[in-house]
Amino acid sequence: MSRTYNFSAGPAALPESVLRRAQSEMLEWGKARASVMEISHRGKDFIAMAQKSEQDLRALMAIPANYKVLFLQGGATQHFAQIAMNFARRGQVADYVVTGHWGEKAAKEAKTLADVRIAASGEGGKFTAIPPRASWHLDADAAYVHYTPNETIHGVEFHDVPDVGDLPLVADMSSDILSAPVDVSKFGIIYAGAQKNIGASGLVVMIVREDLLARCPKDIPKIFNYAEHAANESMLNTPNTFGWYLAGLVFEWLLENGGVAAMGERNRAKADLLYGYIDSSDFYKNPVEKSARSWMNVPFTLPREELDAPFLKEVEGAGLMALKGHRAVGGMRASLYNAMPLEGVQALVGFMKDFAARNG
Ligand SMILES: *Cc1c(COP(=O)(O)O)cnc(C)c1O
Repeated sequence: MSRTYNFSAGPAALPESVLRRAQSEMLEWGKARASVMEISHRGKDFIAMAQKSEQDLRALMAIPANYKVLFLQGGATQHFAQIAMNFARRGQVADYVVTGHWGEKAAKEAKTLADVRIAASGEGGKFTAIPPRASWHLDADAAYVHYTPNETIHGVEFHDVPDVGDLPLVADMSSDILSAPVDVSKFGIIYAGAQKNIGASGLVVMIVREDLLARCPKDIPKIFNYAEHAANESMLNTPNTFGWYLAGLVFEWLLENGGVAAMGERNRAKADLLYGYIDSSDFYKNPVEKSARSWMNVPFTLPREELDAPFLKEVEGAGLMALKGHRAVGGMRASLYNAMPLEGVQALVGFMKDFAARNG
């Protein structure tokens, strides 16, 4: 087998034990006499699995009872638009805090439906820092404040939840959900595409405060209406059954491995190791202000662009894959989601040292 340390930004590495379990259950899942993909989502086995996965996520994130958990489809991108459709209709202000590519995209999609205002943006500084909270221009009547706690491409992460008073805070946690403890009660809505820290693409997990669901308009198609999804236990239509099952396996793996507190410690150690080495070298650089550096996605550049191709070729040879950076930022990017063990980061730093010594 040539499976290797996978630094992909997404779809990203899954815990090997989860993949092995899915493999072992592929032909016959539990007592179903069929795979989990081949049975009714309305049958008692599937519903029991769905309920358990929700309970496990609730336990992992200490989700308060007045929040609904939805297992939806469409990727995070669909929900950029759908959140505006449900919670801020035309003429209503929605505030967006933009600290990178995804926040920008979320605001653009919402703009087709709501009166989107950019309350703060890091664009002037090329998205290398978080605009200080005191500089944000929030509208007291905004329907919500949307932000991206971790910008996957720019490698910029909030390490505290911003205080927006009584305005509902909406967070696209696609690339940092479950990476460390968060206080869910500070949010109106948390949503995340699954393919970074949860499982397979095509599934979106949404945690939404119940009182907000009362705002969902009745005159939009049911299939876009979050209140309808909540009232139907995310089974308004056929859910992404395999994605839901796989997410459940990842939640079990997280619980067996110390939960989000342990993940937070592990992720900090991984990030410290890589940033520590980058900062100590005069070969590699990361442009992000230290307090805003992402623990999940670490972009870095080499001293000369012509070194990128040999770096990528040799790093693959060393058993480390998917390090090419996003074209918006250039250079390399190492994604260090929960499934990346410390040993993978140690191997990467070892390679980086060796490459720098040979090319410095
Ligand atoms: C990957 C990503 C997305 C896009 O997710 P899709 O499932 O492709 O729609 C959105 N936001 C963030 C922060 C991401 O990392």
